[in-house]
Amino acid sequence: MQKVKLPKLIDPVKSATKRSDYQGVMMSSDMARLTEAVASVAGTIESEVKFDKDAQGLNFFHGNLATTVELICERCGEQFVHSIQVSFCYSPVKGQSQEDIDELPEVYEPVEVNDHGEINLLELLEDELILALPIVALHAEEDCNIKQDQMSYGKIEPADERPNPFAVLKELKRD
Ligand SMILES: [Zn+2]
Repeated sequence: MQKVKLPKLIDPVKSATKRSDYQGVMMSSDMARLTEAVASVAGTIESEVKFDKDAQGLNFFHGNLATTVELICERCGEQFVHSIQVSFCYSPVKGQSQEDIDELPEVYEPVEVNDHGEINLLELLEDELILALPIVALHAEEDCNIKQDQMSYGKIEPADERPNPFAVLKELKRD
């Protein structure tokens, strides 16, 4: 069964009224910022988004995303596969005061709709994926080509065996 591609722009209020439920994919080829942030990214992002109204009548939508990316290890410089899984929960707001936004229950992140009452679901969820990337990309220690004991070797090297940086200065002075 072919997976449905999620809409890029969507009216979250109408969708909440309809209780729309999307289970499908987003294409990483539509996500230039994510693609630039990693060495490579799987072609599709498994996506599930459900729109609903809560007991207070607030419109909200929640769901999760899953994909894999390849990152470059900052310790050894080799690529490695990293899976990303994120879940999110938003409530659409429109031209509301900061006070209204502050009153939003904490489980909801506010997302502002445009003049047509729509949100850019693609960009919003791309942001979620980018925020889920590790700040420092590193292999799991056991998979890394530079082992921890190799790393610490430099650290435990006795200080008196290292060339004294001032020795060079001494040489210069002598000339
Ligand atoms: Zn590594």
